[in-house]
Order: sequence, then C-alpha cells, then structure tokens
Amino acid sequence: MIEAHDWNDECGVFGAVGHPRAAELAYLGLYALQHRGQEGAGIISYDGRRYHEHKKLGMVSDIFSASALRKLHGASAIGHTRYSTTGSTILPNVQPLVAKLRQAVVALAHNGNLVDARMARSVLEDGGAIFQTSMDSEVILHLMARSRHPQIERQIGDALDRIHGAYSLLLLVGDTIYAAKDPRAIRPLCLGSLPGGGWVVASETCALDIVDAGFVREVKAGEIVRVRAGEPPRTVRHAPADADATCIFEAIYFSRPDSHLFGRANGASRVALGHRLAAEAPCPGGEVVISVPDSSNAAAQGYAEASGIPFGHGLIRNHYIGRTFIKPTQEIRDLSARIKYNPVRDVVAGRSVVVVDDSIVRGTTVRKLVAMLREAGAREVHFRVSSAPIIAPCYYGIDTPDASELIAAGSDQEAIRKLVGADTLHYLSLAGMQQAIAGERACGFCTACFDGAYPVPIIERTDKKILEMS
Ligand code: AMP
Repeated sequence: MIEAHDWNDECGVFGAVGHPRAAELAYLGLYALQHRGQEGAGIISYDGRRYHEHKKLGMVSDIFSASALRKLHGASAIGHTRYSTTGSTILPNVQPLVAKLRQAVVALAHNGNLVDARMARSVLEDGGAIFQTSMDSEVILHLMARSRHPQIERQIGDALDRIHGAYSLLLLVGDTIYAAKDPRAIRPLCLGSLPGGGWVVASETCALDIVDAGFVREVKAGEIVRVRAGEPPRTVRHAPADADATCIFEAIYFSRPDSHLFGRANGASRVALGHRLAAEAPCPGGEVVISVPDSSNAAAQGYAEASGIPFGHGLIRNHYIGRTFIKPTQEIRDLSARIKYNPVRDVVAGRSVVVVDDSIVRGTTVRKLVAMLREAGAREVHFRVSSAPIIAPCYYGIDTPDASELIAAGSDQEAIRKLVGADTLHYLSLAGMQQAIAGERACGFCTACFDGAYPVPIIERTDKKILEMS
C-alpha cells in the first residue's frame, strides 16, 4: 500500500566515488550513520555500464549480507538510511530512489524535509506525473525530468530552484555524485577525501572517519558540488544563499558526539553546554551528577566539571532494544520504560541526584526517570536540561510532535517540574545555549524548535497523521 504522503525525517546519506569497492565504503558509512535512521537502508552503485541496487527495511547490519554487497559492483555508489513515522515504513519508500530521465539514470538520497512538497506534488500530478512513492524526495526527480535544459547539472539546479525546505541531497549520475544543500544549509553534509584517491560525501564526519577519509569541508548553503574521480570536487552552482541556518539540535542531540559541526566535535559543544548549564542553574546541595545515556553523557560531564559535583553512572541504558512496540496495558507500559533505562541503586540511593538530560520533548522520559530514581532510593532528584525548552515543532526533518504534545509549549518550568515530580528543574537559556555552542565562532543556527522562528517559511503544515489520513 502506498500512503498519500510521507515525509523524510531523520536520515543519513553517504556517497563514494573513485574507489573500486565504493558500495562497501557506503555500507561502512551507513553503519556510522545508523543513529540517523533505523527503519530501512539502501545502496545503489554504478560499474561503468550498469546500476546495482540493494535496499530493504531494517537495520544496516541486517540488510547487507556479504553476498548482497558483492553484487554492488562499481567505483561509485550512494547510500541512505531512513527513519520515518508509523505507517509509512514500506519498501517503496526506502531510498535511494531511481529514475530514468531523458539523458541519464539518476539515483537520489535525501535528508531533510521539503516544506512545499504537497503543493509541488499536486501541481505535478495535475500535469500527469505518476508518483511511485509517497516521499517528498520524489518531487525532485519529477522536477528534473520536466526541466528544459539538456544538461543534468542545470536540471538539478532547475529542480532545486522550485522547492523549499531542508535538503541535503546526493544524486548519483553514472560515475558522478552531485551533492547539494538547501539555501539555508539546514541539515549537515560534508566532503571527504580518500587516502588512495577518490572522494566521499556524508551527512556527518563520523562517516568519514570510518572509511579513513579526511575532512575537506562542509557543502555550502545553496551549493551544488560535482564529485567525481580524478578531479577535485567542483562547485557547479552557487545559489544566492541567505545566511546559514544550520539545525542547532544536530549539535545538541541528533548528530554523533564524535562528528564535527560548527567547527568542533559535537561532544565538545555538549561539554560546553554542561558548563554553561552549571553556571546558569547550579544545584548547591547536589551530591552526584548523572547523565541519561548516551545522548547527555558529555553535557553531564560538563556540568560535573563546572559544578565540582562528582559524576556517577547512575543510569544504564540497554542498547539492544530498538523500538519498543509492546504497549498493551498500563502495567506493561510502565515496565517497558525499564527496558531502556535501569537506575544503579549504589550510585543514587540516599543521595541528592542531579540528572542532566539534553532535551525534553513530550516529557515522558523525564517523568519516568524521576519516578525510577526515587524508587531506587534517590533522596532528591534535580533535573537539568542542557537545551532551552522545545516549544515548536520541526518542519525540517527532526521528528518532533505537534505543538500540543510538546510539554514546554503550554507550561512554564515550574509547571513542568510539578508535572514530572522533580525537586527542582531548570532548562538552559536560549542565549546561553547558542553561546555555548558557538563560542568565539560565527555560527548561523536554526533555532525554530526553541523560539518558533522558522528560517524557511512553513508553507504547509505537514502534520504526518493528517496527511496519512488524507
Ligand atoms: P520525551 O520523552 O518525549 O521528553 O523525549 C526526550 C528524550 O528523547 C530526551 O532524553 C532526548 O535525548 C530524546 N530525544 C530528543 N529528541 C528526540 C528525537 N527527535 N527523536 C528521538 N529521541 C529524541
């Protein structure tokens, strides 16, 4: 079944050219980007004559067997790992997408969300276009097909001129990869060089590390870069870009701590967030600082360093759970929280515990953690959040719920504290958060989820459930 529409969410893309086993590099790259999407993945390679494709639902480790990888011949390849919302996890929506245009076969991998995909799609459908998937990304291929320009580079430019939103894109055309970013550079995408020649392009720098590639640079806002063997990456189009508005939440939570963004490792930014949080929201009687692993480890370390309160491993996370689907009764639902986190009694019992988490979205996690820590004997539970309150949904590719489900959209800190049952609860200020991440550097951030200021106007409310019903 193909549903009405579906939107790309938290995805990872990787491409390699000029390496005899490009698909294997893509496989390793997707492993490093697995945190960006766990619902499906695919690789398409090109061997000079033919394209080879393998894609499936599931995790990278389950999708690519040795024999599947052996069939992905060629010196150029792109891969994609995908996260989507419930109901849309179907094979046709696993990328890369392939289309046969007039001049060439094109494979596409997209991270981000278009804000006008429904409108663009309706116009195309009215003109007779038949869509194979329910993804916003397919619009780009249709727009390329309609371009009057004979050159593929101009066709890409034409298509991108007509869409709005967040996109970090890879297009494989034979032995060439075109890497492109939207004019506000919302999602990350970087170029790397392989030690023996050849190039890679990846959502995050941690995927360069895994294939031993050196970091060359970020793809720039609005830029289209041509990446092919035997020549340096070449900008084939500079768009008249506005100031960068790169997603600040990538540094706070989403990208891996070993990936570099805004000029340094995200882990270092998160430690700086912890330092700042300790200065803005101290906890004088605190006896132990604990993190909510793994995403807040670095921020908790920073809080402990700056406050002088010792750090302890007070919560252990089970890494093998994937998604928890069993939720039939309240009793089982309560127990299922323990599948993910278990408090360490020896660390928290009898103590005044400072819990540092990177963000609160719906408030479900914090509520359960506070109760769990009290059950494990914590004398006091003080919650500290290393980001500002999330008050607005993301329309650019991070899966946040509708504003009505965001706990901070309708309540202030004190109300949230009461709701979750903590002794004290404090968020980092928005200014403090920006300063901690930027330091002395000039960074252009998208902070829409924290202040509702959307750098690309929201043309359509892409509420996923409503779209699925339509
Ligand atoms: P919640 O329980 O909805 O308040 O979610 C907050 C927790 O989920 C925090 O511990 C974050 O580390 C994590 N988190 C934040 N944003 C996301 C996201 N977009 N997808 C999955 N987890 C998230």
